[in-house]
Amino acid sequence: MKPLSKNVIVAILTVLVIAIIFSNYTFKKEKPIDVNIAKVVEEIQNGSVQAIDIEGTDIAITLKDGTKQTTRKESSVSLPEVFIDYGVTAEQLRGANITVKDRSTRSYILGVILPSLLPLLLLMLVFWFMLRQMQGANSKAMQFGNSNAKEFNKEQKLKVTFADVAGAKESKEELQEVVEFLKNPKKFSDLGAKIPKGVLLMGRPGTGKTLLARAVAGEAGVPFFHMSGSEFVEMFVGVGASRVRDLFARAKKSAPCIIFIDEIDAVGRQRGSGMGGSHDEREQTLNQILVEMDGFEANLGVIVIAATNRPDVLDPALLRPGRFDRRVILDLPDINEREAILTIYAKNKPLVPEINLRRVAERTAGMAGADLMNLLNEAAIRAARRNDTKITQEDVLDSIEKVMLGPERRSSVMSKEEKKVTAYHEAGHAIIAHILPNSDPVHKVSIIPRGSAGGYTMKVPGEDKRLHKRGEFLADLAVMLGGFVAEKETFGDVTTGASDDLRKCTRLARELVTRYGMSETLGPRVFGEHQEMVFLGRDIHEQRNYSEKTAELIDLEVEKLVNGALETTRGIIRKEKMHLDKIAKALLEKEVLEKEEFDALFAGSNAVQPNTYTA
Ligand code: ADP
Ligand code: MG
Ligand code: ZN
Repeated sequence: MKPLSKNVIVAILTVLVIAIIFSNYTFKKEKPIDVNIAKVVEEIQNGSVQAIDIEGTDIAITLKDGTKQTTRKESSVSLPEVFIDYGVTAEQLRGANITVKDRSTRSYILGVILPSLLPLLLLMLVFWFMLRQMQGANSKAMQFGNSNAKEFNKEQKLKVTFADVAGAKESKEELQEVVEFLKNPKKFSDLGAKIPKGVLLMGRPGTGKTLLARAVAGEAGVPFFHMSGSEFVEMFVGVGASRVRDLFARAKKSAPCIIFIDEIDAVGRQRGSGMGGSHDEREQTLNQILVEMDGFEANLGVIVIAATNRPDVLDPALLRPGRFDRRVILDLPDINEREAILTIYAKNKPLVPEINLRRVAERTAGMAGADLMNLLNEAAIRAARRNDTKITQEDVLDSIEKVMLGPERRSSVMSKEEKKVTAYHEAGHAIIAHILPNSDPVHKVSIIPRGSAGGYTMKVPGEDKRLHKRGEFLADLAVMLGGFVAEKETFGDVTTGASDDLRKCTRLARELVTRYGMSETLGPRVFGEHQEMVFLGRDIHEQRNYSEKTAELIDLEVEKLVNGALETTRGIIRKEKMHLDKIAKALLEKEVLEKEEFDALFAGSNAVQPNTYTA
């Protein structure tokens, strides 16, 4: 937009200059007095006229005392004739010094040529501006092919090292090797070892891929070229490939160094797979990356690090040896890593000294590093809104629930009836979770609505689990039905509050049968072709590869599982009616029960201990 406004200013200036030329013509410094012919005749006869200049129909009279006068005449008659008609003698006329001028060239230009030329000039001006603009765009297009990779040098103050990355021990070890290569390439090449050209970082969003790549550069103290996969692709075809060339050329000049291509799946998708629309430009860019990676000698000291959270869609050509043959997987942090990450971010935040980050780590299973960072930020905001100067444990714990379930809806008033139903519903979940040995212990029960949930029961596994037993799934099914059964047994009716539980319960039961092969009747078989993203554990779509008859069997099996869970739950709720009432009553009173308060309700002589029942 800037050049345009500059042009507008130039145009305005031009118009102004022209206007000034015109005004200069009309506004003479000494304005002559307009008189009529009779007056002039009189002056001639007086002999006070110095000179008379005739220019077209304009007559300028200069008197002997220096006064200037003007008058006009008809164009058809000659002035001397007019004077003679008025009775001026030839003698007097001679004294008047009459000169007849042609229209002066100046006035001719201004009066005749300029007006007809002006539109032409303006037109040319406009063309000139347009031309200039086009040239500007052209020169920009010439720069398009240059990579606009941001370069971070070792001098950079915001240097990231491995110490800034918590957990991810194996990944760091793996990358430590890369750091060694970069620091001392000669050591390896002397032994005839080939330095890897490419390292692929894979992991879910927020697990610290970008951070780790920068840490490698920071540790090695080498330049770091950062470019995101999507930055290669522009409006014009061919730009991506040209940018890749430019990027590699720049990198080779500053070797040893790191080229970091973030989100490489934007360009590195499987070619011709048609997934997400095949895109010529992307293919060319990818081809160019492959060519460049093959092109440089292994020991040049340029290492390409790429990051992606979709390794499943990457083109196999990228993964073959000689390209991204090192692969580093970044997992979601486990409980200890979460604590470590929290500790890092707690350092620059004023937390109360008695804060228990372990407790926070326990409750944040499934969160990535970025989520944890965000969590502490939420906690800080909460503390600020309380007008406190320190972040308390409660701030952090409340923020976990806020992040996972949505903000509390304290203002939405529940009727007394609804509150009672919710209390029994949550008490139902909690009691089943407490009693079934295969279920995770209860950490918190609340009937304060949050997000879309009316209330919630928080169960937290003692440690992070990677493998899940069938028994645990069965216990989960029972816990999910706890709310439904508690409502039914207490009030003889059920509400829509249980609908979400039922949906989850049905889905889990189905997965038990079709995905995990945990059904006793159908045996260890998986049904349906799951296009699975291996370590993301998410389905894109399911393709049915079984018969109608099997489908029926699956339905029957799902029903059996759900009914089994229902029976278990009903049995417990009926037997433990006393405890159910007790928990519900406590919830109605306090709205929230923390782990300790909840456990205390089970204390006493005839207390039910966990692990009394088996699913
Ligand atoms: P990704 O590139 O994998 O999506 P990032 O590297 O951009 O994730 O991580 C986002 C932010 O989360 C980082 O800037 C960092 O502050 C934080 N983070 C993630 N993982 C960790 C970790 N292991 N240690 C410390 N901070 C982390
Ligand atoms: Mg990233
Ligand atoms: Zn529920």
